[in-house]
Amino acid sequence: MPPARGKALTVTVLTTDESLPDAAQAAAIIHGVLTHTKQTAWADLVSNSADPGVLSLASSLFLSPEQASLVEAWPGVAYAMRRKDGEAPRVTVAVCVECEEWIAVTSTAPSSCQMIDGCTGKYVKPRDASRKKVPFDEAPVRDDAAIDAGALPSPEESVYLG
Ligand SMILES: [Zn+2]
Repeated sequence: MPPARGKALTVTVLTTDESLPDAAQAAAIIHGVLTHTKQTAWADLVSNSADPGVLSLASSLFLSPEQASLVEAWPGVAYAMRRKDGEAPRVTVAVCVECEEWIAVTSTAPSSCQMIDGCTGKYVKPRDASRKKVPFDEAPVRDDAAIDAGALPSPEESVYLG
């Protein structure tokens, strides 16, 4: 049977490099959330979260529970990150692979850890999460309860604001 015509319900999922330290994975996810919702910074996302356009975008982004937990675990990273905005540079983080302390950076990371005395770990910067649209039914992990309730998940539920 051919598929029914009409627009299938799709959601956007993020894929990150799971070999990176948690803070770097969180940064990649946070950047993906900001890109998807067209926000420059997490604070903008929070203050615009009642905007119908932002709400709609946030609701179409599906983080896995693991990704949501990473964002929740690193609020400092969330608030440090910025997408490039006009003359203002992009801010991302560099994470020490040894001690997993992170610093905010606008360009290149220092050559080795500056956060912990005696730590000689190297910094890694996350690559951006890749975004992919998938049919809702094929989203790898999803919160059925939120969708079955017939309501789009709130930004709080879908990206764990605040
Ligand atoms: Zn270190």
